[in-house]
Amino acid sequence: MPDLSFKQANALYIHFPFCSSKCPYCDFYSVKYSKKRVDLYWFALFMELEELSQKVDNNLLQTIYFGGGTPSLVPPFYIKEMIKLIRKRFRVTPTAEITAEVNPASINEEKIVALKRAGINRLSVGIQSFNDHHLSFLGRESSGEKNKKILNLVNNYFNNYSADLIFALPNQTLNELKKDLETLLSFKPPHISLYNLEIHENTPFYKRYNRGELKLPAEELDAEMYEFALEQLTAADYQHYEISNFAQRAYRARHNYIYWLFEPYLALGPGAAAFDGSCRSENIADLNHYLKYYNPEKLSFKEIIENNQLLDSVKKFNPNPEIKIRNLNCLSKKEQMAEYSFLALRTSAGIFYHQFYRKFDLEFKLVYKDEIKELKSSKLIKEGNERIYLTEKGKELANEVFLKFLLD
Ligand code: SF4
Repeated sequence: MPDLSFKQANALYIHFPFCSSKCPYCDFYSVKYSKKRVDLYWFALFMELEELSQKVDNNLLQTIYFGGGTPSLVPPFYIKEMIKLIRKRFRVTPTAEITAEVNPASINEEKIVALKRAGINRLSVGIQSFNDHHLSFLGRESSGEKNKKILNLVNNYFNNYSADLIFALPNQTLNELKKDLETLLSFKPPHISLYNLEIHENTPFYKRYNRGELKLPAEELDAEMYEFALEQLTAADYQHYEISNFAQRAYRARHNYIYWLFEPYLALGPGAAAFDGSCRSENIADLNHYLKYYNPEKLSFKEIIENNQLLDSVKKFNPNPEIKIRNLNCLSKKEQMAEYSFLALRTSAGIFYHQFYRKFDLEFKLVYKDEIKELKSSKLIKEGNERIYLTEKGKELANEVFLKFLLD
């Protein structure tokens, strides 16, 4: 099977595909949490890590990201051991950003402290709202009060963390968003991610939306909410450095920035996608299939670690070549240029012409002459200092801008 070829990858993503229940808007791959399966899964993850470490030439990691799913359900012992193993197999910069996503419903002070001791230096907290009605609509197992309590604790132990907020919920008023923002800003989180509710295919919300049972706010209100949030966050000294992301000075999300810069990244776990600069490989999103491939003997990670048998297990590991574990998709140069462009346009810096030239050996202004002309006349992009970037209107209508590059 053809595979990715990494010359350099600065980031490693680790998927934890377990949640205690499924939020009806979410399309990330996850299954019901079970302690036993997490233990089997962790061994499988380690086997994939071993395999991956053989493939990468220059493996100096700048960022490690535990995403999901709900990584805060993993006992911190597992996270600690995984970070130790990553450090054995890869060179990790001393200043590496090591993030774990946490759900307020499955975290407490003891776990926050244990995650920090395990080597996590940044948390991404799935707050989404402080309004109990909206939290329950979103299927979140937390409450406004619990979210505040967790943010307080996170603030006590972590300098660097992010909080996610969702807006443009059915029947949400501007005043409710204002209250959510005020509450969030009272904690002064170093980083905030702000998303409007999107309806994804194959989710319970998608079915309800199609049956007419769920109505999103009108486009004008959605735009008004977004503009309002921008004003509030900018006034509170946050840099709007990416369409959905805001940071205090020096607290930009370094891991995600690697995605937006179209740079290579490694990934582990079912449903996780890695990228080598021109091809993307996506592990099949099926936990049973993944376990069959990477842990066919159903070995317990905890027992193997406690009995010091990891090296023996690695030597014995012999995956079945008949089992297809991932799909590979290589982008043509035209597709690479399009992806590079719309990812860079997500950032406030936009596209620098010299960087585009260095990457593709072509002039951005010649390749996208017509698109630039059209987007400039619709006031969606601006040009200046040898770069283009989105205007405020362009940020609101970002998907329209991106389509121009993709549909060329
Ligand atoms: S907890 Fe997060 S990953 Fe799990 S279903 Fe909800 S939104 Fe999706």
